Amino acid sequence: MGFTIQNALIPTDWGYDTVDVQIGGDRIIAIAPNLKPMGTIIDGRDKLLLPGFVNAHTHSSELWQRGIIPPRPLELWLADLYDFVPLDPEQIYLSAIGTAVETMLSGGTSVVDHLVLIPGREEETIAAAVRAYQDIGIRAFVAPLIQDESLMAGVPSGGKTMNPEPYLRSTAATLDLMRDTVRQFHRPDEGISVMVAPTGMQLCSDALFEGCVELSDRHHLCRHTHLLESRAQKLLAQEKYGCSAVEHLKRLGFLSPRTSLAHCVWLDDADISILVETCSTVVHNPLSNLRLGSGIAPILKYRQAGVNVTFGCDGSASNDSQDLLEAIKVGSILHNVTDMDYQHWITPREAIEMASLGGAKGLNLADHLGSLTIGKKADLVLYDLTSLSLLPRTDPIGLLVLGRPTQAVHSVWVDGKPIVSNGTMTTVDVDQLRQDLFDRSQWISHQSKTVQEIEAHYRSVMGLPQR
Ligand SMILES: [Zn+2]
Repeated sequence: MGFTIQNALIPTDWGYDTVDVQIGGDRIIAIAPNLKPMGTIIDGRDKLLLPGFVNAHTHSSELWQRGIIPPRPLELWLADLYDFVPLDPEQIYLSAIGTAVETMLSGGTSVVDHLVLIPGREEETIAAAVRAYQDIGIRAFVAPLIQDESLMAGVPSGGKTMNPEPYLRSTAATLDLMRDTVRQFHRPDEGISVMVAPTGMQLCSDALFEGCVELSDRHHLCRHTHLLESRAQKLLAQEKYGCSAVEHLKRLGFLSPRTSLAHCVWLDDADISILVETCSTVVHNPLSNLRLGSGIAPILKYRQAGVNVTFGCDGSASNDSQDLLEAIKVGSILHNVTDMDYQHWITPREAIEMASLGGAKGLNLADHLGSLTIGKKADLVLYDLTSLSLLPRTDPIGLLVLGRPTQAVHSVWVDGKPIVSNGTMTTVDVDQLRQDLFDRSQWISHQSKTVQEIEAHYRSVMGLPQR
């Protein structure tokens, strides 16, 4: 059984075309004007059809802390985040649903959830997120956030003996957990893929990275990690390895065409060459980088060097929304201030391609996702061009990227299944979600104890004056 989207606008090399698009099963089977109607008919008039975007880096459970952490750099922000009481699996479920809803209502059809695990309830955490993504029907890449070193190991010592306390779970136990997770939940054909995702070089041993590489090779899993998000991490890499973090990850065999790297703010030219050589993907999280003062990632340099770049929202405690169109907008125009040569700037059409095909490439799925191509998966988004925010009629993609689209998503399909119809989620009750989020939270402001403990050391190693 299939359906036909009639008279939708699609981008072409020279402008736009009005076509019919037919979906059979989970795939696009025809794209042409005036096709013979087949199956359900969807009215595509005055609507723009695009391939779905990938929210290529987020941490869904941070939804519970959005808006609460004051302006702080990454290391102190993380200390603050750690102070919140652990969540329960039901909260994990709700925040995964919330993350997916916001992603889909801003053009996403896939999400990479670098999932923070509840200590001692790791398997339940993963099960709750997987259940949420199955219920809503988004294509999900669940990447349990693993580490084997404790918080203070991630802050440069500046020559001081730090003796960070051991992490709560051993490397071996963490790798066992990942093996079980793959066995239980890795079902790419059903829309749920498990990724190996050490949190980052700042909190992970070589053994953990190597174990992840081995597991990734054995099960063809994609790999994901944070990379050089802050200047402190660049300092730490020199302390820890005596070389750049990128060089070190390459030696460990972690970088590959199915590796995506969140942030990549503090890379130099030699590091960029390694990304090119290993065909790794950069996930640009512009709003998080601004929010935490991490810096501006050299995205134009990456693109000129031939590195694949896509976009992520990052977790809601450092953004603090999951609006993918906002990340795409800021993530493209932000770089205009870094290069006088406007011919290097990212155009709206390039931004759309980075978010769709670029995202698919980073997940090693470019043959199956990311463009309006016959034979590819029907992960599609239809935008209502009569939405006030997309009027008057100018260049639809120009306005979608450079404007501030609100309530512009009309329909979303994943694997050919309808998830949003007429602007409304069909698989989950958003009113109930609002009620649940409201009931499970309260208005608070908050003071972090851990930040108070480590702030003096952080200020000293980063060369900031003591108060
Ligand atoms: Zn992150």
